[in-house]
Amino acid sequence: MKIVGIDIGGTMIKYALLSLEGKVLEKGEIPTEASKGVENLFENISKVIENYLENNKEILGIAVSGTGQIDGSIGKVIGGNPIIPGWIGTNLVERLEAKFNLPAVLENDVNCAALGEKWIGAAKGKKDFLCLTIGTGIGGGIVLNDELLRGDTCVAGEFGHIQIEKNGRQCLCGKKGCYERYASATALVAMVKEEYGEELNGKQIFDLYKEGNQTIINVVEKWIDYLTDGLGTLTYIFNPSLIVIGGGVTKQGDYLLEKVKLSLDSKIGENYKKNLNIKFAELGNDAGLIGATYLLLKKLNRI
Ligand SMILES: [Zn+2]
Repeated sequence: MKIVGIDIGGTMIKYALLSLEGKVLEKGEIPTEASKGVENLFENISKVIENYLENNKEILGIAVSGTGQIDGSIGKVIGGNPIIPGWIGTNLVERLEAKFNLPAVLENDVNCAALGEKWIGAAKGKKDFLCLTIGTGIGGGIVLNDELLRGDTCVAGEFGHIQIEKNGRQCLCGKKGCYERYASATALVAMVKEEYGEELNGKQIFDLYKEGNQTIINVVEKWIDYLTDGLGTLTYIFNPSLIVIGGGVTKQGDYLLEKVKLSLDSKIGENYKKNLNIKFAELGNDAGLIGATYLLLKKLNRI
């Protein structure tokens, strides 16, 4: 048996065929065409699923990871940026199950990434940990007692919108001073532009950092300082033994991880750092697909 995995992002839809062990057997991607709305999106993912069904007799179900605020317990999109007209309010699971007569799940992409890392990645075997993805914004996933903590209305773990500066930078959410305006990859690029005078991408920034460019070193250190301000707050709330950090910046590897650890260590009390481990995510771009698969297997009591 195999599972069709789909990861719906704002720009691209990734899809894959996965084994029941979470192995990605084959994969591809198509543009989301967000502006064309949810019906176009449903047609596009239906084509992907139909194609897999034609070529594989043994499809167990459909596992979807998606952008936005999602009630993963019923598979309905309940909020987020309205980049795909009609997406908010859609119960994708109902529609997929009715159309294909197969079980389906839909969960928020960062929650899926957390579950993927828990299943076969950096948090393998962990019952309690936090997952943080650093990209355009900052996303969060909380796993407690082996389960996702969804919260009362399924929007728990939006770490990116914790306020870390009173009257700070304007955020897309409407508030000011949100964590993601200071510690996301986008924020780093913006801070570099301000101080260095040029718009550089992540790789260029870290190359200059390693070459010893003092302006860039100052900006990166300020950015790490903001990053660990947020991590410190989360540590005081959850007292976790593991925080998994995902996103493009993790390509920088151990030297960046060590700097983050050192900075966080200087901000939290003895008992909080006793067993605390910070790791970079291991599943990269496949984490969402793998986590959604885990959730589907859980729904079917196969895991
Ligand atoms: Zn915000």
